[in-house]
Amino acid sequence: MNYIVMDTEINGRVWKSADPMEVISIGAVKIRGEHIKSKKYKHELFYEYVKPVCAYTEYARKFTGIPRQTIAKAESFVTVIEKFKRWIGNEEYVFIGWSDSDKLVLIRDCKLHKIDDDWVDIYIDLQAYIKRYIPEANNQQVSLQNAVEMLGLEWMGKAHDALDDAINTAAIFMFLCKNKSGDIVQEFMKGSTCKVYRKCKACGKFYRSKSNRLNRAKRCNRCYRAAQASK
Ligand SMILES: [Zn+2]
Repeated sequence: MNYIVMDTEINGRVWKSADPMEVISIGAVKIRGEHIKSKKYKHELFYEYVKPVCAYTEYARKFTGIPRQTIAKAESFVTVIEKFKRWIGNEEYVFIGWSDSDKLVLIRDCKLHKIDDDWVDIYIDLQAYIKRYIPEANNQQVSLQNAVEMLGLEWMGKAHDALDDAINTAAIFMFLCKNKSGDIVQEFMKGSTCKVYRKCKACGKFYRSKSNRLNRAKRCNRCYRAAQASK
């Protein structure tokens, strides 16, 4: 299992408009499961800019610091997503993000460009996890910068840069993994919403199933079979 810690920046603005606020950059860190076990981290990085369909806003330029020239030369969303999926590879993965907004903007842009979005939903919201399960957060939603400080880590790089935000989110994730011996997905999926991993109504375990029968029953394979056997 690979963990893909991901962040996006968008073509934001503060005024109302019918234009979509598209993704303009994607940064990601790949952490392999065996590196979590061995505590030897070797990061593989992904960083691409995306040329939006609508004009690059001055608001987004100031917020992200990405020069106009960089966006003008960037590739289209569809091309960058093809590259991103190739980089993710064929091994089983789960995305880790700070809040679910990166997941939602990617799904929205996939729909905008009429490409498949199923691959995005395999996603753990680390912000939601910290809010509920880290006592220092006091059940409050904390910003990425505040979480870094709260856990006694040091901020790396520049805020609102997709790659640096992903690197800092990865540092938090790995810090929290340090004392986890169990199944990482079982632990961190708590507090997230994900249509790919569902919570079993009987045993509470998160399960991944392509079978509609299990999804309708809202049970993992084991609990489903146990229920059938006792009938
Ligand atoms: Zn179960």
